[in-house]
Amino acid sequence: MSFDHKKIEEKWGKKWREAGVYKVDLKNPKKKFYNLMMFPYPSAEGLHVGNMYAFTGADLYGRFKAMQGYEVFEPIGLDGFGIHSENYAIKIGKHPAEQAKVSQKRYYGQLERIGNRFSWENRLETYDPDYYKWTQWLFVQMFKKGLAYRKKSLVNWCPSCKTVLADEQVETGRCERCKSETEKKETYQWFFKITDYSQRLLDNIAKIDWPERIKTAQRNWIGRKEGINITYKIKGLKETVTCFTTRPDTNFGATFVVIGPEHKLVKSLMKKAKKETGEKIKTYVEEAIKKSEIERLAEGGKKTGVDTGFKAINDLNGYEMPVYVTDFVLGHVGTGAVVGVPGHDKRDFEFAQEFGLEVIRVVVAADGDKAKITKIEQVQEDEGKMINSEFLNGMKIDKAIGAMMDHLEKKGVGKRVVEYRLRDWCISRQRYWGPPIPMMECQKCGWMAEKEENLPVKLPMVKDYKPTGDGKSPLAKAPKEWLEVKCSKCGGKAKRETDVSDTFLDSAWYFLRYPSVKKKEAVFDKELTKKWLPVDAYIGGAEHAVLHLMYSRFVTMALKDWGYLSFEEPFPFLYGHGLIIKDGAKMSKSRGNIVIPDEYIDKYGVDALRMYLMFIGPYDQGGDFRDTGMRGMSRFLARVWQLGEKKRKKGKLREIRKLQHMTVKRVTKAMEKLRYNVGMAALMEYVNGMNEVGADEEAVKALVLMLAPMAPYISEEMWSKLGGKFSVHQQRWPEYDEELARGEKVTVVVQVNGKLRGKLEVDREEGEDKGKMLEMAKENDNVKKYIEDKKIEKEIFVVSRTGGTVNLVVK
Ligand SMILES: [Zn+2]
Ligand SMILES: [Zn+2]
Repeated sequence: MSFDHKKIEEKWGKKWREAGVYKVDLKNPKKKFYNLMMFPYPSAEGLHVGNMYAFTGADLYGRFKAMQGYEVFEPIGLDGFGIHSENYAIKIGKHPAEQAKVSQKRYYGQLERIGNRFSWENRLETYDPDYYKWTQWLFVQMFKKGLAYRKKSLVNWCPSCKTVLADEQVETGRCERCKSETEKKETYQWFFKITDYSQRLLDNIAKIDWPERIKTAQRNWIGRKEGINITYKIKGLKETVTCFTTRPDTNFGATFVVIGPEHKLVKSLMKKAKKETGEKIKTYVEEAIKKSEIERLAEGGKKTGVDTGFKAINDLNGYEMPVYVTDFVLGHVGTGAVVGVPGHDKRDFEFAQEFGLEVIRVVVAADGDKAKITKIEQVQEDEGKMINSEFLNGMKIDKAIGAMMDHLEKKGVGKRVVEYRLRDWCISRQRYWGPPIPMMECQKCGWMAEKEENLPVKLPMVKDYKPTGDGKSPLAKAPKEWLEVKCSKCGGKAKRETDVSDTFLDSAWYFLRYPSVKKKEAVFDKELTKKWLPVDAYIGGAEHAVLHLMYSRFVTMALKDWGYLSFEEPFPFLYGHGLIIKDGAKMSKSRGNIVIPDEYIDKYGVDALRMYLMFIGPYDQGGDFRDTGMRGMSRFLARVWQLGEKKRKKGKLREIRKLQHMTVKRVTKAMEKLRYNVGMAALMEYVNGMNEVGADEEAVKALVLMLAPMAPYISEEMWSKLGGKFSVHQQRWPEYDEELARGEKVTVVVQVNGKLRGKLEVDREEGEDKGKMLEMAKENDNVKKYIEDKKIEKEIFVVSRTGGTVNLVVK
């Protein structure tokens, strides 16, 4: 190596701190830019390169914005209160409060080494009473506004973490944190009424600039369904059964009704049924509620159920539909009952096959052939036209849905409803390491919130902090002085709530607090909040699509409604970065493939590591970490260094300028879109180019300025050697002249299934942009003809010396 990275890092790190290079003028920003990265929680292994990858990519963007003249606020903190940190502490046999101090030191130490322009003065930790005071305040507000309530209900239970979990924390039947299979438990829990915001959370998705996959995940999670509740009489009984359906058009084909074992009707049917049947139902229900929801809803499993012997009457045609109790219907979700249309629903079809129930076809696909099938052996779930349905016959299904809804409403047996999949947020946890829920139960007044002036309700130090598994928090064994309080209303005897709140509440609002951390007497500094929020760029992983990102939106909306904020979407722009993998797999301790940045920083320097991580693949896709790549980047930096050493080749000025301006344009465009690997590739070509056509000081200075966000230390050192004014990080991003930047034109040919269908004449740098070329190819008028109404199965893009080729494989 031709330079001593350790010396440079130490020298400039110190100088930046002393000079306050990254200090933000929060009070009087010229043009503000709130650059936020996702809240880190200290994990067992400390910071690994996967985390660093996220932070470096975000930092590059912040630095780029700063060089464009923005006042950049890039805060950092620790999400260290909660189950993740607690589980780790328990594992190593340390008290969570003790471990928090150790983790904090280690984590901040590592974060200081990765070269980010963090606004350290505004850091916050969620376990700091100065912070959780306001988390509790938020809880109290929720309670006061009727958005927090306590209810007995069937909730998710993690047997390993020994606590309840929110629906969002159960991923395909497993605990989001420890991956254990979750169970169901019926207990009293605190909930936040996020469902009051279902429609707003859904509507606003159209207004935010987020990756499509995260938006889709949120839409699906909210799960809006327009349908109708149809009420059927039960023959010989006073009771009725109401079924929700989104496809009332098929109701002439209904041949049975199924109700979930938890349905309130089950008990009375059990009593009124024949004795033998009643017994059967009882046994079935007992078995069914023991099963997990996953088992019950699993597709393709054998359908089970008990015929109650009762018949529901279809008002449309008098059809007597047998009523079954079955476990594939959840009795506590929606109306808890479903009308079976086996001709047009796969699950209903399987059920009908199992119990020998009639299958009636009422929709035929456009080709009509399927209508001829006499013995129906398959389901028809596609669009088509109505048959066997009296007044609906001949209509297309979407028209028939409306006509049937009108009909049922007019007859008084149906009511249009909108349903959501979203459930209220279960917020209480039977754990120790979290903010105590600031509520108390008074013998006279019932559940009361703690007085705001008494917040925070401090988490007492207890020796016995391990979760008990008996459904109670370890705090239930806290000293009497803590447990027994005066009622905040009548002053009488009251008992504290002993559950703590979900860690996702801590992180649902931390970004709102960052600018205001120094304000002790209020949750937000009004002026700063107005100046700095909402967040300008939020950069993070997509794994919390329905957790953190949904909760934050909800909390922000609520705070806006209460008058604390003037906006309701906290993150108008969200960028989802990819994942760094090692040996083809996600980094995890159990796989033993975790890469810790420290050793690489020691060996190659932080600049080389930052650059390598950003070069590994498109930032939104990630890549595979390899030591060879690391060495390659280190060699590149050595070549850059030599250009600064004035061992430069002399060349024609005009050619040098052209190369320079073309590169500045390419890198600027790439940085704007966080396409760091593309920008870096352009810089590499630039270095090669300067070794070919020659370089002068101006050209090298431009290189150093463009390198500054990626490699902050070496660029500062080179800048200083070139006689530049301290600091390189306070310089403006280089500009380019359109005329000089105009590159040669290249031709990208577009094929559809291997046949030439179009040509694109573009600038070279454009022609290297896969996303752009695919987009342009699909918009080409001639190409359009060949891909319309077809499914694109594969998109191939190859760059060549004269341009490139796009090949779209369609079916
Ligand atoms: Zn768990
Ligand atoms: Zn009271």
